[in-house]
Amino acid sequence: MKAEIIAVGTEILMGYIVNTNASWIGQELLDIGIGTYYQQVVGDNGGRMEEAIELAANRSDIVIVSGGLGPTRDDITKQVVADFLGKPLVIDAKQEDKVKEYYKRRDYDYGLLDANQAAIAEGSLAYFNDVGLACGYGGEFEKENGTKGLIIVVPGPPFELKPMFSNYVKPHLQEIFQEAENIESLYLNFYGRGETMLSKDLDDLIQDQTNPTIALYAQPNRVTLRLTASGKTSEETKQLNQTMADQIIDRAEDFFIGYGENFTLEDYVVNKLMEEGQSLTAAESLTGGLVMNSLAQISGASKVLYGGFVTYMTHSKVELLGVDTLTIQEYSVVSDPVVRQMAEKAREKADTDLSIALTGVAGPDSLDGHPAGEVYIALAIRGEETRTLHMNVPDKPRAVVQETAKYAALNLVREYFLNK
Ligand code: ATP
Ligand code: MG
Repeated sequence: MKAEIIAVGTEILMGYIVNTNASWIGQELLDIGIGTYYQQVVGDNGGRMEEAIELAANRSDIVIVSGGLGPTRDDITKQVVADFLGKPLVIDAKQEDKVKEYYKRRDYDYGLLDANQAAIAEGSLAYFNDVGLACGYGGEFEKENGTKGLIIVVPGPPFELKPMFSNYVKPHLQEIFQEAENIESLYLNFYGRGETMLSKDLDDLIQDQTNPTIALYAQPNRVTLRLTASGKTSEETKQLNQTMADQIIDRAEDFFIGYGENFTLEDYVVNKLMEEGQSLTAAESLTGGLVMNSLAQISGASKVLYGGFVTYMTHSKVELLGVDTLTIQEYSVVSDPVVRQMAEKAREKADTDLSIALTGVAGPDSLDGHPAGEVYIALAIRGEETRTLHMNVPDKPRAVVQETAKYAALNLVREYFLNK
C-alpha cells in the first residue's frame, strides 16, 4: 500500500512556511501501517496541481492533498480534485449548516465562494471540520492497472488538519484498506556507551534482525536505537518490539536511560529524581545556569529542582555560597577543593539531596595558569562522599566546553543512580 502526500501552497514553495503537514501525515499513516513513498509540493495553480495529481494517482494507492480548501479565489484544491475524479462539486449539508451558522452569528453575507467550504466531489465521503469551516473529502478512483485508489483532500492549517485526519480520515482508510499491516517503532536511548561499542554488544541481534528491524544512530549526546516491527494487530506489533527491547536492555543495562524518540539525559535525570523522591540544586560558574536551564525544560522539574546558584565571579562564590577565601587563594578558583566546596555549600544552603557544581575555563583564553577547556565538576550527596571529576576539553568553542561539562555533570548524577 503506497501513499503519496501533495502539499498545496505557494507559501511552502517560497519557503515562507515549512511543510510540517507532510511530516505529520507521514507519521500518522505509518501508525496504521501505510508507508509513504512520495511527497510533492505544488503552488496554488490549477494546471500544475492537475499534473501532480495525475503523477501521484499513477504510482500511489492513496493520494493525500493538503491545503487550499478555504473560501478565497486561490483555494482551488476541491475543484481540481473533483475534476480529476470526473465529478461535479456538491454541497455537504452538515458542513453547510456549520458555515451558515457561523456567518449568521457574525452578520456576514453568505456567497458562492463561501459555499465552496462545504463542497465535496459528488459520491465522495465528506470529512467534517470540527474546528474550522472547510470540510475535506475522500473519493475513490480506478488506477490504470484497474486497482482501487483513494484521493483525500484535507485543510492546510495544522490545527484543522489534525482533528479531521484523526477523527474521520484514519477510520475511513482503515475501513477501505483493512488488510493493512500494522507497523510500529519503539525507541531506546543509551548514554555512556558509543555507537560502535553498543553495536558490538548487540552484534548478533543486529545481524539476525528481521522483524523488528534494528537501526542504531548516534545523536549529539546519546545513542538512539529504533526498533520497527510489523504485525497483524497493534498488540502483536508492540509485543514484537518489546521482546527485542528486553533482550537489548539486558545486554546494555548500565547505559539504558529510557524509551522515546526524544528522550535525553536531562529527561532521565528529572524522571529519576522524581522516582526516587530526591531534590537537586546546582552551583554553576563555568555554565552560568545551563544545567538548571536544561533540566527546567523537562516536565516535572518543579517537583525536584530546588533552584540554583549562578556564581560566576570569584567573590560571588564566597558571598553567595560561603566558599572559603583561603581555599581559593591556595588552590585557585578552578580546582578540585573549590568545586567540592561549591557543591557542598550549595547543598547545605538548599537542603537538597544532591548538588552539582561546575567551575572551569570556558575559553578561548586561559585563566590563572589554567588552559581553556579545563573543567572541575562535583556532585555532593546527602550522607555520602562528594564525587568530583576533572576533565579537559581543549580547542573547543566556549559553548561546546559548557555543553560538554553540563553532560559530564549530569552523567555523574546518572552514575550515582546506577550504583544506588
Ligand atoms: P484556509 O481556509 O485557512 O485558507 P486552506 O485549507 O485553504 O485553509 P491554505 O490556504 O493552503 O489552507 O493554508 C492556510 C495556512 O495553513 C497556511 O498559511 C499555513 O499557515 C498552514 N499550512 C498550509 N499548508 C501547510 C503545510 N503543508 N504544512 C504546514 N502548514 C501549512
Ligand atoms: Mg486558503
